[in-house]
Amino acid sequence: MPPPVFRFAPSPNGYLHLGHAYSALLNFDLARRAGGRLLLRIEDIDASRCRPEFETAIYQDLAWLGIAWEHPVRRQSEHFCAYRDAIETLTAQGLIYPSFESRADIARLVAQREADGAWPRDPDGAPLYPGAAKSLAPVARAALLESGTPYALRLDMEAAIARVGDLAWSERGAGPAGESGAVTGWPQAWGDVILARKEIPTSYHLSVVIDDALQGVTEVVRGEDLFWSTSVHRLLQALLGLPQPVYRHHRLMRDGAGQKLSKSTEATGLRDLRAEGATPADIRRLVGL
Ligand code: GLU
Repeated sequence: MPPPVFRFAPSPNGYLHLGHAYSALLNFDLARRAGGRLLLRIEDIDASRCRPEFETAIYQDLAWLGIAWEHPVRRQSEHFCAYRDAIETLTAQGLIYPSFESRADIARLVAQREADGAWPRDPDGAPLYPGAAKSLAPVARAALLESGTPYALRLDMEAAIARVGDLAWSERGAGPAGESGAVTGWPQAWGDVILARKEIPTSYHLSVVIDDALQGVTEVVRGEDLFWSTSVHRLLQALLGLPQPVYRHHRLMRDGAGQKLSKSTEATGLRDLRAEGATPADIRRLVGL
């Protein structure tokens, strides 16, 4: 049996905090206990939010915590070709369409729908795509693409589900309501998700699935805020013929007010805690490991 492969996959759009420390240390401990490998992946597809100093700080903070990872580190921004290929595969299956509404257009459409009654929201609380770009006439679509209008490439969720049917994933942790074992996905809850944009030829959902497969990841250990995203990930794996890892979603670290920690909360930033004299052992204690 080849050793299990774990990964920690932060985005360099801020400094790491206690929530990241918990996730990284948990991955490290589980990999070590299982005689497995630990990979580090830098999820830097959004150039407008990611900065080199945050990436440097990730390496420093993880090394300070005593975490060892394999090299080379995979940086998503260096692999846009792989994501484009996947978009082409899905396009060839007739499962992708461009939508051209701006954020303001979408907000207006949602307000109209809500005025007529409730409009569904995804598990993160964002309204589902309310537009009708899927049924745009081919000539109109071609003209918009030709004109250089910004667009998002969306997955035709109904057609995608019709192609692969119901799917479950193997959950070793627990979801927000304690779901574990074989969890049946409900990707329709996300509507026609964006898989790429004109200016960023991929998305979190697409690149995470491609990279986990290309890197041979067998165990995805990450925060429970991503639990229901796994429905979309499982669907994309099935559509693209990729292997499925097992998942372990873990509890989130929360601040005193019960809110999920954010990168702007300085009080829990690893750099600040280190500057105040905290040791790696203190961090382990603070996150309950
Ligand atoms: N890059 C994501 C984050 O920083 C984690 C993605 C994942 O573990 O699937 O929240």
